[in-house]
Amino acid sequence: MALVNDNYLKLAAGYFFPEISRRVTAFAEANPSLAGRIIRCGVGDVTEPLPRVAIEAMHAGVDDLARRETFRGYGPATGYPSVREAIARADFGSRGIAIGADEVFLSDGSKPDASAFGEVLASGMPGDGGNRIAVCDPVYPVYVDNNVMAGNTGPALDGGGYAGLTYLPGTPENGFVPEPPAEPVDVAFLCFPNTPTGAVATRAQLGRWVEWALRHDALLCFDAAYEAYVRDPAIPRSVYEIPGAERCAMEFRSFSKNGGFTGVRAGYTVVPKALEGRARDGRRVSLHQLWMRRWATCSNGVSWPVQRAMEALCGPEGQAQMRALVDFYMGNAAILREACAARGLRVWGGAHAPYVWVACPAGLGSWETFDLLLSKAQLVVTPGAGFGRMGEGFFRISAFNSRENVVEAGKRLAALG
Ligand code: PLP
Repeated sequence: MALVNDNYLKLAAGYFFPEISRRVTAFAEANPSLAGRIIRCGVGDVTEPLPRVAIEAMHAGVDDLARRETFRGYGPATGYPSVREAIARADFGSRGIAIGADEVFLSDGSKPDASAFGEVLASGMPGDGGNRIAVCDPVYPVYVDNNVMAGNTGPALDGGGYAGLTYLPGTPENGFVPEPPAEPVDVAFLCFPNTPTGAVATRAQLGRWVEWALRHDALLCFDAAYEAYVRDPAIPRSVYEIPGAERCAMEFRSFSKNGGFTGVRAGYTVVPKALEGRARDGRRVSLHQLWMRRWATCSNGVSWPVQRAMEALCGPEGQAQMRALVDFYMGNAAILREACAARGLRVWGGAHAPYVWVACPAGLGSWETFDLLLSKAQLVVTPGAGFGRMGEGFFRISAFNSRENVVEAGKRLAALG
């Protein structure tokens, strides 16, 4: 009989979105007359149609495949050079950041990349050959669960979390932007604008992380899936806006939340050539080369029509259309933020991020607040506890919705007793 990866058995519970679905389904079945009123502001999934240029480029890409003269089979595993160049230019060069096209690796999204990157790092518990890994708390659960599955943690702890991981608390006091840890760490996962809190790191805060990583020879895995939501030029959209970051950080990028590609699937990871890790014998090793090797072995890349769409989104028209899409969701976020604040609730995020992070009403836990909002207002939010111990006492509202639903959600929040 096949032996399974025991590490999967350590996972404390299923990814918590299924539990949300279970409660919503149970409510709808028990209250059929209210089922049609349910507004889902939980999962961070986009609702609006794709930008025009992306649709046209995908149609054209399919037409290419329909003719022998333009047909494409397997392409380069890391993406066609023209697409990588367009990304390097639009997302970095245009902002004065020196990232080479060959440092951009195309993929089907940043969640898969955040999962796969662990493959080029040592696995195992810290102290037993593995890395000491830090995550923020609350946290995008993918970083945690992947490390559990890779065997980089001990068992689930009573009260939440896993043994062996270093948790960095995000609190109202630090604005949900933890400082680098005092204890030694080899790898730190950072995400700004943040899932779930919507917090952004200032240049000074990110600068302290880069300075810390360079000093300790640590690796920063920086998730910038929501960078398009940052509109204040003083707030960094990329870790590479901080000098020296190319020697200590890789960056995950996604077309999901700016181009609406959650269903199309497209993203990329930047692994600079200057970025190094350490082999067990002490040699310094290029992470760029390892990541390239991993792609060549494990993937045949992104489909041609999708790569054409990625390239189109990097052009001036594509950039303008993505900006309009992001503006739309930011308008939603402002409505939700104001509705919660008007109810007297404490709110964070929602200004440079599509997520509004809200303190639960006094005396209520995050699942209790979830149940209350579902039963009294038929609003589905995400309980903060699902994002880690420090998420307890908060809930997240997602701005990814139609304007009609957001306006209605705002009214229902305002009407709550
Ligand atoms: N990274 C963060 C922080 C996210 O919140 C999400 C999705 O919600 C993703 C990545 C997923 O991105 P993708 O759709 O590109 O896999």
